[in-house]
This record gives sequence, structure tokens and C-alpha cells, in this order.
Amino acid sequence: MYTDHMFRNEGEKSFLRNWSGSSCISGIANLAWKMLQAVNRRLPEGELPSPKWAPGKMLKSYERSAPTLGFPRVTDSLCPRCVPEVRNAIIKGEMDISALISGQPGEIKAHIVEENGRVLMRKVCDKHGPFEDVLSTNSHFTRRIESLFLGRDFKCAEDKDVHRHGTSTIKFGRGAVLTVDLTNRCNMMCNPCFMDANQVGYVHQPSFEDIKAILDRAVSFKPRRQVIVLFSGGEPTISPHFIEAVAYAKKIGFYRVMAATNGIRFAQSEEFTRQAHEAGLHGAYLQFDGTSEEKNRHRGVGNLFDVKLQAVENMAKAGMKTTLVTTIVNGVNNDGIGSIVEFAIRNIDKIQTIAFQPVSFTGRDEDIDDQTRYAHRYTLSQMVEDLKTQLNADWEPLRDWFPLSSYSAFTSVMDLLQGDDAPWGWSACNCHPNCGIFTLLVVNRRTHEFAPLAMWP
Ligand code: SF4
Repeated sequence: MYTDHMFRNEGEKSFLRNWSGSSCISGIANLAWKMLQAVNRRLPEGELPSPKWAPGKMLKSYERSAPTLGFPRVTDSLCPRCVPEVRNAIIKGEMDISALISGQPGEIKAHIVEENGRVLMRKVCDKHGPFEDVLSTNSHFTRRIESLFLGRDFKCAEDKDVHRHGTSTIKFGRGAVLTVDLTNRCNMMCNPCFMDANQVGYVHQPSFEDIKAILDRAVSFKPRRQVIVLFSGGEPTISPHFIEAVAYAKKIGFYRVMAATNGIRFAQSEEFTRQAHEAGLHGAYLQFDGTSEEKNRHRGVGNLFDVKLQAVENMAKAGMKTTLVTTIVNGVNNDGIGSIVEFAIRNIDKIQTIAFQPVSFTGRDEDIDDQTRYAHRYTLSQMVEDLKTQLNADWEPLRDWFPLSSYSAFTSVMDLLQGDDAPWGWSACNCHPNCGIFTLLVVNRRTHEFAPLAMWP
């Protein structure tokens, strides 16, 4: 989930109480839109430009393709037991890594079905038997999100060095976030840890030359859209190359450079935070499990919540914005996500976005038994209901939430406005509508009242 903020010179009166004016404006806007569409249909079609950064002409909405959506449907999937077996075989030298591209190790088909208002994924591995998972607890919600998918971006061109992954070869767009792992070491030892940091028995820490090669390849193909470079790990700030990697990404033209961090180094040192910002670090994706020590205790650090607060302060002082990143585990911390939104609203001058990430059972959680996985699984449809209930807000799952990809509608307009000679296209996320959703909240910076964008007067 994403929040963002907009600056307003609001008066004393709460905008939440002013909704009737908003309804009137929205009615006029609707009428104007329908009239515009009627005129538009009668006009001859114009040509869209071919900007320098794109592999061809910009796409009209009807030229965008989409994957098969709806349910029931069949999709490609993985057997959760075969995957570690394949990985271990590669590490031990029993299987060549090229099998990941030329073969289909661990791949099985999955059936996505609707049952009693839920959406389920069922699959059967010949070797390991059947698996079932819940994709959504509300099929109406998921159907609506799928119906709003904006369509795919340009086909990727001339990128055999970057996107060739066998069955999973990426064929459209260039993604929105490039994650570069700088180390698998960490100064914490959490459970869960998606990376199994510190535990795999070897250190993986790319040299600066390796990091440069990754970044250079990432700018080598079209569409040359802006992506966020996200340095991750393990804990990226303990890599000896962290600062110079940030500076290099900035130097070769990446617009947004971020770090996915537990915040310890930023909390420890204002000087380090300032250096990172001066090198080009725009902000941090800060691991943030809840708004109390108790909600952070499971990570095994005594004063972790105080550390988070200090990191947020130091980053704000250095001129950086924080995105709070919360891994949500059903039955563990899903009861505290409303208070995270309230915390972000109270600190709207320092916090720009929240990214709620339902747990994915990888890394240290890979060996979880089926019963626990089923109990801890948390879906996007549960999240939007929990937020509405916990905040007791007019924040409607079927009105205020959209597929993450739909923000590309705004970036298409920016692509047109910036002209054909721009070196980079605007960032466009075209992820699958089952992958991510977003919402926009408007926050009054003085009173800390908030409303979803649709209810903003
Ligand atoms: S801080 Fe992140 S990388 Fe480090 S152990 Fe915890 S989850 Fe893993």
C-alpha cells in the first residue's frame, strides 16, 4: 500500500467536513469527461510520437496487451519443495546453472479458482504432492483490481544480457525497481528474513566492478524508462561499496536511488546519513514492523523501535524521505497496520510512503510446514479490510484501491509532455494486477486529518 502527501495551505476548517462541495465538482467533472469522450470518438486518430528512450511509437490503450486474467485460469507456478532441491543441486555442482534457462526445473502448473468468495491457488507436484494457498479472501475485490489493469508496456528490445530467464523471460517494459543486493551479511539476525542473511554458510558481496556492470547493463536497452535503484542485501549499508555504488548509480543517470535498510547505520551516525545523501541517496525503504517495541521484539534487538525513530529523524535532517516497509504476517502483526498509517500521518513531514508487504515464505521461512504457511498467509484483500476497520475510516476497498500498474496512466501523460528528445521515459510499473495495489491519501499537515483521494474536496 502506498500513501503520499500533498502540500496544502488549508484554513481552519476540516476538509473532511466539506464533502458536499466535492461531490458537486466530481459530478461536473464526470459530465465534462463524457462530453470530451463523445467529441474524441468523432475526431480522426492522431499519431503518437516515438521518443528517443522508447523502442517505437508510444502505445495507445487498445495497443496494450494483458496476461490471461480472471478465474478459473491456469498459470505457471513452482513447487515450493522442488525449488530448494534445485538450488542445492546447483550449489553442489550436481546441476548446471544453465538448466534454469534451458530447462524448467521445479515448474508446475497451478489452477486459480474461485470458491466460497475466496480465490485459491491449487497445484500438484508429481514428487511432493498437492499444495493449496489463498490468493484472495474477497473475489469481488480481486476481480475489480484485475479489471482496472492498464495493460503492458512496450516490448523489451535488444536486452538478451538482462532479461533472458527461460520460461520467466521478461518480455515487456523494464520494471520499475532494480534491486541490487550489495551483500548477504547483516547486522541483525531476524526471523523472518527473506534472504536468510548471515546463515547460508558463505558471504556473497559483489565487488565494485560487479556492481558497476549490473548498473551499466540496466541502462543498456530500451525502453529506457526511469527505474528506482534499490540497494538491498542483507543490510546494504554494511557493504564497503555502499556510498560509491550510490554515487555511481546517480552518475549514470538513475533518478531515484534508495536503500532497503533496517536503519541501524542511519540511526548510529548523522555523518554517515549525510554522506549517503550527498552521494545521491534519495531515501530509504525502512524495515518497520509496528509502532511499539513489542511489535518489533520478534527481531531480537532490545530497543529496535527507538532505533527506527532515530533513523527516521537522522534521514529527515539530512534531507531524505522515508518509506516504511512492513512485512505483514497474519496473526502476528496484521492487527497493528492501522497504527502504522497513523504514525506515518503524524510524521508526514518525514515519511512519504508506506509499503505493506504480505509475508512471502522465502529465505529463512522456506521450510515452513503447510499448516503454518496457511495460517500466516496474508492477502491484499485482508489488508484493505483491516485498514478500514482499524482506522474506522471512510476508506473503501472497492473504491479507493487500484492495481499498482494504474499509476502508469499519469506517467504516460508525463511522457507526452516532456517531448521526444527526453533521454529517459518516466517510471512505469506494469506489474501483474495480483502483484500489488496502491491508494493515495491526502493528509492535512497541520491537523493530521486524512482522506482517500476520491473523498478529497
Ligand atoms: S534486517 Fe533484513 S536482511 Fe537483516 S536479518 Fe533482518 S530481515 Fe534479514
